[in-house]
Parts: sequence; structure tokens; C-alpha cells
Amino acid sequence: TAAILWFRKDLRLDDNAALHAAIDAGGPVIPVYIREPEHPDTGPLGSAQAWWLHHSLAGLKEQLKSLSSDLTLATGKADEILIDFARKTGAETVYVNRAYERTAIDRDIAIALKDAGIAIRAFHGQLLHDPKTIRTGSGNAFKVYTPFWNAMQKLHEPHEPIDPPKTIPSPASHPRSEALDGWNLLPTRPNWAKGFSEHWTPGEAGAQERLEDLIDADLHDYKRGRDFPAIEATSRLSPHLALGEISPARIWHATNGLAQKHRDDLVHYRKELAWRDFCYNLLVEFPELRTKNWDDKFDAFEWDFDAADFSAWTKGLTGYPIVDAGMRELWQTGYMHNRVRMITASFLIKDLLINWRRGEEWFRDTLLDADPASNTANWQWVAGSGADASPFFRIFNPILQGEKFDPDGDYVRHFVPELKDLPKKYIHKPFDAPDHVLADAGVDLGKTYPKPIVNHGLARDRALEAYKGLKG
Ligand code: FAD
Repeated sequence: TAAILWFRKDLRLDDNAALHAAIDAGGPVIPVYIREPEHPDTGPLGSAQAWWLHHSLAGLKEQLKSLSSDLTLATGKADEILIDFARKTGAETVYVNRAYERTAIDRDIAIALKDAGIAIRAFHGQLLHDPKTIRTGSGNAFKVYTPFWNAMQKLHEPHEPIDPPKTIPSPASHPRSEALDGWNLLPTRPNWAKGFSEHWTPGEAGAQERLEDLIDADLHDYKRGRDFPAIEATSRLSPHLALGEISPARIWHATNGLAQKHRDDLVHYRKELAWRDFCYNLLVEFPELRTKNWDDKFDAFEWDFDAADFSAWTKGLTGYPIVDAGMRELWQTGYMHNRVRMITASFLIKDLLINWRRGEEWFRDTLLDADPASNTANWQWVAGSGADASPFFRIFNPILQGEKFDPDGDYVRHFVPELKDLPKKYIHKPFDAPDHVLADAGVDLGKTYPKPIVNHGLARDRALEAYKGLKG
């Protein structure tokens, strides 16, 4: 009989266990992708990621067609659509890869399918390891990263990736597909995504290219370089991982060869990949991670919300160059360097005293790699409300962070070009520059570039005061 292969966040043919099992079942395979209604556990699809999804689905459809298969697109409740397709095609089993952010949703779908006489077979592949396999001695989820990483190292290596299939058996005809263009995933007017394709190639081939680049560069200087936003030392695989165009196990095994020459860099890189697993481990433990503080002490925190401050933050007009460069990088490229994500998030939460959830929402909408586990866990990490979090009272100073991690100001000069002629000494604090220095650089504070929207020292005191109130 036919098998339905349900694609979700695994938009790839490589290392796709569900696809292989569906083929091995011996009958024709019917690949489908379902646009489902929004659910509180997964939250809305962000606008930037919708752009990526469009291109990724278009690419996957082409790949499948080149193997004489196809991709059927449908909109609606997954259980209803799967049952309908099963009836139309005679399929008795749905093959799927687990998506750990939707464990509860999938449980309900499995029950509905079972009631309709359809089996569902779920496989692992979204993470390095299934979250259930990395547990404390007493069988609980780890709440702190380092012991999680130590436990992961004691496990066997991530599974050996499976190569993509050479052929996929097809039915005489595939179920009717909706048109991808009709889904309106791409922005129209204004086309704010027009810069994205200069930086990114969505799809499995693009992911493989990034991986090859990473290996060609030997992960050289990753450990040190990954903290400097002006250097491209990181893999930039995150948007591909977010939609499953590449599996983390494939990345892990493909980098094995670097262990001899660049051991430190490789271990550090793998530790970052393991952070992604750790974030999912937290999400599985606490599915409300996006909406609720992990540490409920923070429920009493008195957030502020100034709409003008929030708007200045989103637009990169706070008057703090490193913050503004990061927010503009995000808007222009759909990505932001990790170090700068921490700085901009800290600024929103601690300097502006705005609830971390507003930041999470903005990042979710604008990041191409928006991920239900990594985004939420990292926002809570910065806020201090997370499981293994940076303490609230550790407040990033945007000037010192800029001077340390963008010492020549190259990153700022690139994304905040109105400051590009400022000397190094003032690039992270134009407000301290003497008038003649500003004039020579063509900077008119308050006109060509904003004055700081808050005084960092005072804002810091205010944040610490608010935190004290929380404890008392
Ligand atoms: P590399 O340095 O090459 O790392 C390799 C991979 O490891 C990444 O692709 C990513 O999958 C994983 N990784 C690295 N750092 C982290 C981390 N801190 N947490 C979890 N996984 C990590 N990452 C997302 O993928 N999606 C998000 O929505 C997201 N939101 C974030 C929000 C905030 C406030 C912060 C501070 C971090 C966030 N991150 C998020 C984590 C991190 O910034 C990105 O994963 C990283 O910048 C991606 O770039 P890269 O692929 O070049 O990373």
C-alpha cells in the first residue's frame, strides 16, 4: 500500500529517516506538506522565515520532481488532511520525523489517525540526540548546560546519517496540490526581503554548500573568532537547521575530519550545536517556554513599555552604535551575530526594561533562523528568567561590549554608515566625542544619528532597583 510522507521541519532528502522508512515499506510514497493553523505551543510563523519557507518548499518540490516524485501542499488541520489523503490514496501509514516543539500536538494527531485506522510512524533526526536519551542519573531533564554536555559526550555519537535516496516510488498520480504562490509567503509591497537573497540560498543545496564552506575553512579560529561580529567565523547554518534542510547529525559527522588539526575549534563548534539540543531539551520539559517564565519569580517583575523606545530599538535608532548595528543587520539580512543578539537583547530587557517576550516576538518575526526552542531559551537566558540563565544583575554595557568585540568598529561602520568616518576612539560612544571630531566625521548628533535614548548608567541603576523589588 501507499505511504504518506509528511514533511514538517525536515525539508531535506538527506539523512531523512522517515523518507527512508516510507521507501522501505515498498509501496508508492506520497510526500505532503501541510500549512496548519497557528498553535500556542509553536507560535506564529515569522515573516522572515515565511520568505525562507517559500523558497525551501519550492526547492524541495523540484528535488522531488527530479526523482519522479512530487510534493503536495495543503492547508488545514493536519489530522483531517492526512485522513483525507489516506482515504483518497489507500495509504495506511503516515511517516514523519519528530518535531520536538510540537510533541503535544502530534500526540493528538496520532490519536485522531488511529481512530481512523491509520498508523503513524515517527523517527528521530531533528536533533543530535532524542531529548529522552539525555537525562540525569535520576531520570530527569538537565536544567544546566554543562552537565547536559558532559552527559552527551558519554553517549554514543549522533546516529550515522543516511544518504539521500536515488529514487522514490510514486503513485500513478499525486493528490492535488495547492499552489505555493497562493500561500502568499513572500512579502509584496514593500519588499523588505529584497536583500536576503544576497546573503542566503534557502534549500538543501544551499545548506550543503554552507557545510562545505565550513569544512574548507577548517573551522579555523572558530573558538576565538565566533565572538567578533565583523569576522565571518561562524557557520551560518542556523536558518537551514531551523527548517531542517540539513540534519545536525550530518554536520557532526561531516566535521569529524577536523578533529586532528583544529580540535579546540571543533569541540567548541559542537558545544554550540549541543546548545541547540539543550534548548529543545528545555522546551520538551516546559512547553510554555515561549509564554511563561521558567523561573516564576519573574512573574512579579514590573516591566515598563515605552512605545517610542521599543520602536527605536527595532529600527536600530537607540543611539548606541553596537545595538543599532545589530538591529539593522537583522532587518537587512534576516540574521544577527550571536554576540550582538546578546547585547541587543540585554539592552531591550535591562536598559529599556521591556518584557523579554516583546523581544522574542520581534526576533521571531524578523530572524530567518527563528526557532521555537533557541529563540525562547536564549531570550530567557538573557532575561535571567531561564533555566540555566545569565543572572539578571549581569548587565551588558553596550559601549564596553562594542569596544571589546568590535575593536576597530568595522561592524558598526558597515551597518551604521552614518558613523563610518568617526575615529575608532568614539565609534562606540559618539555622544562622548568633542564637537570638532563629530563635525569632521559629518555626524550631527540628534540629526544624522540619534542621541542615546537612555543613559546606560542610569538605566542600569533602574534595572537593578526593579530587580531588588522582585526579590523583596
Ligand atoms: P554557529 O556559531 O556556527 O553555531 C552552529 C549552530 O549551533 C547554530 O547554527 C545553531 O544551530 C547552534 N547554536 C549556536 N549558538 C546557539 C545558542 N546560543 N543557542 C542555541 N543554539 C545555538 N538561534 C537560532 O537558531 N534561532 C533563534 O531563533 C535564535 N534566537 C536567539 C535569540 C537570542 C536573544 C540569542 C542571544 C541567541 C539566539 N540564537 C538563536 C542562538 C545563536 O545566536 C544562533 O544560533 C547563531 O547566531 C546562529 O549562527 P551560526 O549558525 O553561524 O552559529
